[in-house]
Amino acid sequence: MSATNRFANCSISQCHRPSVRGGACQICDRPFCCVHDRKEFHTCPSLSEISEEEYQQLGENEVSELHQRLNVAEVLKRASTLNGGQKCRYESRDSDTTGFIVGCANFHGRIIFDDQTEWLIRIPRKGFNEYPRQLIEHVIASEFATLKFLENTQVPAPKAYDFGLASDKDKRIGVDYILMERIAGRPWDYGDKDKQSVLESVADILIELSKYPFAQAGSLVIEQGDICISKMASNRYVHLDAHGPYATDKECLLDVCQQYLDLIADGQICPRWPQEAFAFYSIFATHVEQVFNGTEAQEFFLKHVDDKGDHILLDETGRVTGIIDWQFAQCVPAAEAFGPSYVTADQARLQSADAGLTEDDQRLANILRDKGSASLGMMMERDELMRRFRNGISDLDSKEEAQHILRGLLAVMDRPQPEDIVVWALEVCRQDHRWPSLLSLSG
Ligand SMILES: [Zn+2]
Ligand SMILES: [Zn+2]
Repeated sequence: MSATNRFANCSISQCHRPSVRGGACQICDRPFCCVHDRKEFHTCPSLSEISEEEYQQLGENEVSELHQRLNVAEVLKRASTLNGGQKCRYESRDSDTTGFIVGCANFHGRIIFDDQTEWLIRIPRKGFNEYPRQLIEHVIASEFATLKFLENTQVPAPKAYDFGLASDKDKRIGVDYILMERIAGRPWDYGDKDKQSVLESVADILIELSKYPFAQAGSLVIEQGDICISKMASNRYVHLDAHGPYATDKECLLDVCQQYLDLIADGQICPRWPQEAFAFYSIFATHVEQVFNGTEAQEFFLKHVDDKGDHILLDETGRVTGIIDWQFAQCVPAAEAFGPSYVTADQARLQSADAGLTEDDQRLANILRDKGSASLGMMMERDELMRRFRNGISDLDSKEEAQHILRGLLAVMDRPQPEDIVVWALEVCRQDHRWPSLLSLSG
């Protein structure tokens, strides 16, 4: 019996396997193990197989279910109290698009005050239901603490006013939530027109964050009124348990690798390409020295882990008004905090064997230097190893894609390309003590 922590058990009776993390069916909401999520055991269509109307309906159902739990009157009372008694009203839809304001992970309801300022109530979507309560509560508390921390910096991020948990007896709001400022602006579409302005702002943000070193790697929380480092708030795929905080970069990276290796061998992540995924994290674990260039970092810096264009908001003139969605933010070693990230990545290339810095990575490095920060510029143009590590090998369509990613990793690490990547991955896996578990997944 495996000792690896589980988010949930497979919902098929008599099956004792753990569920695949983040793999609950979006139609019937049930979690399945790495075997029973296959078509022959579970017959719900996948999201790509349903019609646009059916997809819309799923979204409507989810939001309506959420509003059955959400006590809007209490939300408005709370918001009004926090905003000097000013009256406010609630809207579930955006005024411009008339659609819901949702991302993959969160729904946002609007709170509009009499003076027309607007707040959002940010509520985790139903996908969070499969995660352990303790983890959800840590992720929310940590995002709130991150926003509070940012309020005392020059980083343009939403102000946070309150957070609460569905389990809070005295708040009666009925859901997990964060109350925050709504920053006006349109998401950056990666268009060239606004690129210089976006990269300049990103450079300013990185320079600002470099002024706030932390002594440990982890995520922020507020304890007795003070912002401090606590356990890692999982990661952007919500695959990881809350471990840490860590005193050194090596300790942090090794623990994350070991968590991944345990989870893969237990069938909890990457169920369709376990050997490729296992080889991916094994290589990181055995080459930690190379990842951090042989230095032991003693300082860590806050990183937005999902700094894609849609989280960067611009005004009409292309000026950045704010960077949003700080969920899962972490304090990481400088080499990662100021190294290439999503904002300058070529997303298609990142999922391929074609590794290396992009033109935009280089452009951002130059801007950092022009702004007087030679050391950050240097880190930005070193390599994209940590970007590849964080992007991982789970969010893919096929085993072939996983094999490309593995080749890409070898390329970034300057290691020889094996003739047959499948055989090579198999060899890496066989050298590990978890090999019998891995083998049982495919058998
Ligand atoms: Zn289903
Ligand atoms: Zn099962």
